[in-house]
Amino acid sequence: MTIANISLGIVLLTFSFTAHAALRVVTTTQDLAAITEAVGGEQVKVQSLTKGTRDPHFATAKPSMIRKVFRANLLLLIGADMEIGWLPPLLQSARNSRVLPGNPGYLDLSSVVPLLGKIEGPVSRAMGDVHAKGNPHYWLDPRNGIRMARAIATRLGELDPAHKDEFHHRFNVFVQTMDDKLPVWRSKLGHLRGESVIAYHKSFVYLADAFGFRIVDEVEPIPGIAPSAASLNALMTRIRNEHIGLLIIEPYYERRSARYLHEQTGIRVAVLPQSVGAQPGIATYFDLFDAIVDVLGNMGDQ
Ligand SMILES: [Zn+2]
Repeated sequence: MTIANISLGIVLLTFSFTAHAALRVVTTTQDLAAITEAVGGEQVKVQSLTKGTRDPHFATAKPSMIRKVFRANLLLLIGADMEIGWLPPLLQSARNSRVLPGNPGYLDLSSVVPLLGKIEGPVSRAMGDVHAKGNPHYWLDPRNGIRMARAIATRLGELDPAHKDEFHHRFNVFVQTMDDKLPVWRSKLGHLRGESVIAYHKSFVYLADAFGFRIVDEVEPIPGIAPSAASLNALMTRIRNEHIGLLIIEPYYERRSARYLHEQTGIRVAVLPQSVGAQPGIATYFDLFDAIVDVLGNMGDQ
């Protein structure tokens, strides 16, 4: 063996040691973190930049977040402008080219799901925080969870080829769990099929699509804008005329408007966890739907 061969061997050993260290994955939301943990197992070290208790449209770039992005091998985001208000400045401050758009360490999951509610034609600020690229709340459809998990497992396998088979195996387990759970959730929410439902924010269209109910209106007159007395009264009339029986709202929105609508029309109000981490005990992506189905399943009888 020549000296050159020996040093090449040392270089390869060093390289393979580095490759076998857990990948540092940073996600913008806890939902992405939970799915990554499910398919990544002990081969990944996952940190979420935001907490499921907070509205994911808003975050403040803190030094601790910049440090996480600086060290990351992979950045996962919801995309479709969900993080538009806070992620670009964070990426700029973190100065980590691995996780910039176009590089293998950057994965925008909105590119792997069929987005609903794309806006055709010009978009203006007067339309509120509408998402011209489509509605970004797509993780609330369990079928999109499969698409996200597949894309994450594939990317992990590209960044850490030595564990490709393990990522693929864990993805298959994820799919199997979903195949077992989805029919159970669907039957527990059978009473909602075809029902008209009001949402507080334009965030439950994917959930409605997955479980066969319809979101016919929102409490927010424009996404991101709190209701006025006039818009609440118009909604009240609609609820009465169309006998709409259910209003769903995330835990972090003001509850006053929903309470008022309940008092005036009798509409039932369901506070739905919208993310992993939104409430204690929701640690996995499956826990999230178990919790949602628990709340909505009890909304069956008038
Ligand atoms: Zn939104």
